[in-house]
Amino acid sequence: MAKINILDEFTANQIAAGEVVERPASVVKELAENSLDAGAGKIVVNLEEGGLTCITVSDDGCGMVEEDLVLALKRHATSKIKSASDLSRVNTLGFRGEALPSIAAVSKMSITTRTRDVLAGSRAEIEAGSLVSIKPAGCPPGTTVSVKDLFYNTPARRKSMKSSSTEGALCGDIISRLALARPEVSFELIIKDRRVFYSPGTGNLSDAVAAVYGAGQVREMIDINAVDKNIVIHGLVSKPSLSRSTRSHITVIINGRYVRCPAALEAVEEAYRTLLPQGRKPVVVLSLSILPEHLDVNVHPAKLEVRLLEEEKVVRLIISTVRDALRNNDVIPSTFPKARKKEISALNYSKEAFYVEPEQSRINFDRLTSKLAVSIETKNPVNNKLTAERNKVQNKVQYVESQDYSKKGKAGEEKAEYAWDDKRLPVLNAIAQFPPTYILAMGEEGLYIIDQHAAHERILYEEFLDGFKEMPGQYLLVPVTLELDHRESAILTEKIMWLEETGFIIEHFGGNTFLLRGVPPRFPAGHEKELFLDILDYFKERGQSASRVEFFDRLASSMACRNAVKAGEKLSQPSMDTLLQQLAQTENPYTCPHGRPTVIHLSYRDLEARFRR
Ligand code: ADP
Ligand code: MG
Repeated sequence: MAKINILDEFTANQIAAGEVVERPASVVKELAENSLDAGAGKIVVNLEEGGLTCITVSDDGCGMVEEDLVLALKRHATSKIKSASDLSRVNTLGFRGEALPSIAAVSKMSITTRTRDVLAGSRAEIEAGSLVSIKPAGCPPGTTVSVKDLFYNTPARRKSMKSSSTEGALCGDIISRLALARPEVSFELIIKDRRVFYSPGTGNLSDAVAAVYGAGQVREMIDINAVDKNIVIHGLVSKPSLSRSTRSHITVIINGRYVRCPAALEAVEEAYRTLLPQGRKPVVVLSLSILPEHLDVNVHPAKLEVRLLEEEKVVRLIISTVRDALRNNDVIPSTFPKARKKEISALNYSKEAFYVEPEQSRINFDRLTSKLAVSIETKNPVNNKLTAERNKVQNKVQYVESQDYSKKGKAGEEKAEYAWDDKRLPVLNAIAQFPPTYILAMGEEGLYIIDQHAAHERILYEEFLDGFKEMPGQYLLVPVTLELDHRESAILTEKIMWLEETGFIIEHFGGNTFLLRGVPPRFPAGHEKELFLDILDYFKERGQSASRVEFFDRLASSMACRNAVKAGEKLSQPSMDTLLQQLAQTENPYTCPHGRPTVIHLSYRDLEARFRR
């Protein structure tokens, strides 16, 4: 082995930066947390190119004197703890003294700061970790840290960054979580001179939730409060009428710190079990106050995780608090819960992205034969920002993505082991409906059992996929207002072309609010908002890997699922015959869009063998 060296400070900082500073959002988190620790009442974050070229965080906190400013840039320099024994009662967000030197090591940083009791402030310029200059400066009390050209001296890290809109969206997500964690502080996020987020800092959690998710969502949420010996729980939880397709709308805050806490997440989900359809997640902000000695905050380099020392007790308290709140607000239905109904019906497709739970609503089977009623030429409202994005995306649309959809069908066939060699479904005559969801039919080759829901899904799925390319969107009688969060708004803008291609008609209303004026033909009525938000969640989850083809495919299959006849629905003889005819005309009659079989065949030979004739 080689001789042991002690690393110099610069190298040590670069290594620490590798852990603490993953991307612009981590810089925003560390700087905003420093502002919170400095007692700020207002924090303004400014981003250029998603934070890749410039991040500025300004606060009106306690500021630093020049002497401390120089120290703050040194590794392990902190005003927050003095010795290891303080670790057991940390009540600040920072304590490691690593953030400033780590960020400074991989960027060009400047800090301007002034305490309230001195007249002149100071300004330090640091490049790749070395102090370039420090001078007096005129500035208001508080601190402004500006971080330029992040990772300019670590090209590999710089290369692994995503697009500026994705990085910006991640920064926005951090700001939203901090705003939820600290409702008494006002947060403002400015991107390209536009204010994209603002929380008023009233100290009211519901005001912070309204800033993040929109006032409409707050109205669908319930306050929770509980006190146990060492724990206080406070928060807002959604009624079952409000749900999302991913966990990303559950925020857990422990002692004012936004954290990942799997135990608390699971407890929240457990509280909603049987209240939400499978695969749906609630919108929750859960704020726990726990005595610092019952917590270990020193388990993650970016302090994103904490360990609960009395986990079981906390979990039990969360479940009972959330459950009680839902019960007291009469949101737990007295009839059979939806989830049970679903177990009984044979439909269980929970894992599909933006799959929508089949509802108990009755859908007129005449839809099968009815063609589009009214459709109005899509005329998009002029909107500079969206138009710019449209043009940009249009130029980028990749050739590979314009491949024919029939290829998709072929892939489906491979999955279907039950398919016959001959891919066409023969002409069938319906004999009877066999409850809850089967149609018995006969053909030259014997007996066929068809799953009415799956078969109808297949028919609609293929129709919808074709329709996206050919049919314009349909205007809604009343536009749906979408109050999005910053990230959703960025995603919508980024994917506007694909959305419009399928028939969505979207207008920017101001800030992060959009109007959904039109939807693809035969979009499930009454579910516009829910399904649209599911689509945004889907894009959020898939990130850059979402392709146009996959999006069209998912949209068609979730619309098909919503519109298809349900299990248990009674069908007339002509309806059954129409269904069979239309199924025979599909490209892949033997599987539903999720890859499950639509038809089971018992040939005369099978029957004879079974009857031993
Ligand atoms: P930590 O937050 O773990 O103490 P940092 O490297 O993030 O470490 O910051 C080092 C020190 O610089 C802090 O302990 C604090 O004293 C000072 N500091 C950093 N940011 C600010 C700010 N916005 N306002 C006042 N002081 C600050
Ligand atoms: Mg810090």
